[in-house]
Amino acid sequence: MQASIIAKTHAGVKSAVTLFVTGWFIAAMAFEFDGEKWPGAETEFYFALEGTSGTGILWNTAFREALLDWNEATDFNYILREESRDPCLSDSLNGVDFTEDVCGTEFGEQTLAVTLTSYRAQLLGPPRIIETDIVINQGQTLDIFDGNLQQFGVRFDGIDFRRIALHELGHALGLNHEPSAAAMMAATVGNLDRLTADDIAGVNALYGGLSNCNVRVLSYGRISDSLAAGDCTVNELTLGGSDDSFIDVYSFELVETTTVQFEMASTGLDSVLILADSKLQYLDFDDKQSGSCSSSLSQTLGPGSYFILANTFDEPVQEACGTTGAYELTASFSSSRTPSLGNGTSLNGGSSSAGFSAGITADNGNSFGNRFSASESLDLDVSIDIDPLHVGQPGFLIIAAVVDGEILLLNQQGQFINYSQNPAQLIRAASKVLDATEELAVLTDFVPAEVGIDSIIVDFFIGYGVDSDPAEVYFHQTPLNLIVIP
Ligand SMILES: [Zn+2]
Repeated sequence: MQASIIAKTHAGVKSAVTLFVTGWFIAAMAFEFDGEKWPGAETEFYFALEGTSGTGILWNTAFREALLDWNEATDFNYILREESRDPCLSDSLNGVDFTEDVCGTEFGEQTLAVTLTSYRAQLLGPPRIIETDIVINQGQTLDIFDGNLQQFGVRFDGIDFRRIALHELGHALGLNHEPSAAAMMAATVGNLDRLTADDIAGVNALYGGLSNCNVRVLSYGRISDSLAAGDCTVNELTLGGSDDSFIDVYSFELVETTTVQFEMASTGLDSVLILADSKLQYLDFDDKQSGSCSSSLSQTLGPGSYFILANTFDEPVQEACGTTGAYELTASFSSSRTPSLGNGTSLNGGSSSAGFSAGITADNGNSFGNRFSASESLDLDVSIDIDPLHVGQPGFLIIAAVVDGEILLLNQQGQFINYSQNPAQLIRAASKVLDATEELAVLTDFVPAEVGIDSIIVDFFIGYGVDSDPAEVYFHQTPLNLIVIP
């Protein structure tokens, strides 16, 4: 985030719209863009051009081909809507038409077409595009043909419309004029009739910000990390603007409505937390807990993919806090279903089709979460769908609890015992012939405060094995986290 907190804070809520006009003219690897782009690298475009060119091709067919050319060559996706929309209406719909002027202003004598684009400021990076419309100068003589322009020849009557459409659609997705390389985005129309490597590289760079950053999958619980030299910057993520503050990017998925809560705690880093959807549209942010360098935010979100961004400022806003340093990100959730425990894995590399499910509840299964107070009464029930190849074999269940890097294993008396990490001494929660579904109550009416626990962070893992391969344990990749707070 950039230095002035007021500017940053207001950027998130400001709805000022800026309109830019880009024309293409007859006559005049370093693609050009300012970073303004469509969220999610896609937008709907409406088109229903009437009439046919001198060479017998419908104008609308050529426009459709131009949309598809950008789609096929680049990471951007135009969603085609074959309906007419007035390009001069400010209606949040992208349209195209032949017009006698630029929505009330005269076309320049040499102007073939004009793209009108509206932007809206956002929390991070350059403004996003919210509408783009194309008006084509109906006073120009146009045709549709490949190859060199033959403005003054007899074979074709006018300038090729298809390359005009390609060029204007390049503006519509965020490209500027390319002054040096061979490109459809050159400032003047020429003999090029197809997109070039420079055009394609420009789009893929403009929309490739997420691939510049290391996106990590969020685990609920506590993550210790830092913002420091070598980390991704806002500039690299958003591609545009001048914000070179460091940013860590975490992704998470929700399968149902879930309340998520994040805390970014630091003693020396000016913490900024930002919640975004899968298109990097910013949903919420917090840049300060009063009197500290930490931040927190909580939101109830529907099913979908999201990012939580751990960020700071270009220059510190709070004198006591800096722009690099260590932080602890604590992530918690509450929902009516048990959390995903990720894909299956195993201790020694064996594969299985086992499924694992478990959740911690303080209200008898009405809701599940990972953050509870020490005085709440907690239940943890686990269920394992055993791999069919293992059903009916003598085997065992393993319940592990990782606390401060120490591994504890549940014994058959219901106690967690420090594990020596010697596979020959695996402590079993149960020894039995394996059924298709194995269930185990790990915690029942467990009140942490009653056993002297005021605060603790635990990652549980659930696993099983078969006696014929006693050092192998099948379990899950994502820990089941528990945070107990006073
Ligand atoms: Zn142009």
